[in-house]
Amino acid sequence: MAHELEPRRGALRSLGGAVAVALAFGDAPACGQAAGGGDTSGGSESIADNTTVLAESTTSSADTSGGGSSGVAASTSSGAADPSSSGAASSTGDGRSCDATLPDHWIDGTACDDEPAIMVHQADANTVVLRQSLCTSFEGPFMYLLFGDDRVLLEDTGAGGIAIAATVYEVIDQWLAANGKDAIELVVVNSHAHGDHVAGNSQFEGQPNTTVVQPSVAAISEYFGISDWPEQVAQYDLGGRVIDVVPIPGHQDAHIALFDHASGWLLTGDTLYPGRLYIEDFTAYVESMGRLVGAIDPLGVCHVMGTHVEMTDVPGVDFEFGADQHPGEHPLQLGWEHLVELHDAVAAMPSPTYEVHDDFIIYPL
Ligand SMILES: [Zn+2]
Repeated sequence: MAHELEPRRGALRSLGGAVAVALAFGDAPACGQAAGGGDTSGGSESIADNTTVLAESTTSSADTSGGGSSGVAASTSSGAADPSSSGAASSTGDGRSCDATLPDHWIDGTACDDEPAIMVHQADANTVVLRQSLCTSFEGPFMYLLFGDDRVLLEDTGAGGIAIAATVYEVIDQWLAANGKDAIELVVVNSHAHGDHVAGNSQFEGQPNTTVVQPSVAAISEYFGISDWPEQVAQYDLGGRVIDVVPIPGHQDAHIALFDHASGWLLTGDTLYPGRLYIEDFTAYVESMGRLVGAIDPLGVCHVMGTHVEMTDVPGVDFEFGADQHPGEHPLQLGWEHLVELHDAVAAMPSPTYEVHDDFIIYPL
């Protein structure tokens, strides 16, 4: 979403019932669900002793709470594998397995007394998806944490008002324990530079074993070794896990897509998600769509994963702008066919045109 359009939200609602992260690294993929959201049967084996109610530490919009407290969703299915997860056991045309799971429902702002400020979903042993509660920001952005042997990549830091760093470091600590490691470098990148994706960056700056790549064309190019932005696709190795970094300006000039060969997830940020696709620079956007379609082997793509959901589960119908409750959300995950559909649509437009599709809305500014 384009942050220029969006009014800042006022005071946060009080969030109760936050509990510790309790992931199941190394076990079967767990389905994360909100504390108090009816899916606490897994037992919430807290390994954190510093958990506090998140609202207490997030009433400031300054985002300076770099460590200490955290409160996140229980996300374990130990002892009771959650059959509600979707997306498992599917495969793409070349037969690659698509094992990363997705929940049937994300926190959706309809139960603010119960849902955590951040839902943590463990998609597989090395992949975690985080969603910021709509109760804290109507943007409700998604964030991705991808673990390799040598580094862990975080894409995006939320819209502000949440203790994202404390949550991420807690997840990392659990991954380290499960993998018998002492430390791993965290690399923080942003899908693009809009405020609803970078607001938590400052929480990570200056923290141990952490690199924050600033969300600018210059900084991204330097870090990933891109000498010919936006034409060049960089390959970035987390250690046994290669990520393709594809410049895709258009929604915003420092926008990147990340293709994770391990999960088969193509992370498309605000360029493609089930919602209103705001386009700042239409020419650049069309060119980026063309490059992205050409750069990625569709046979390797399991899901196209964006950073918001604004469509309902009714084709072509979106939630009202600024809606902070999303009952009946469209699934987060899209497919390669949606990328092709979007590419073909914008490429065919003689001029930038508002156009409603079943699963997204093309929205030139
Ligand atoms: Zn956004």
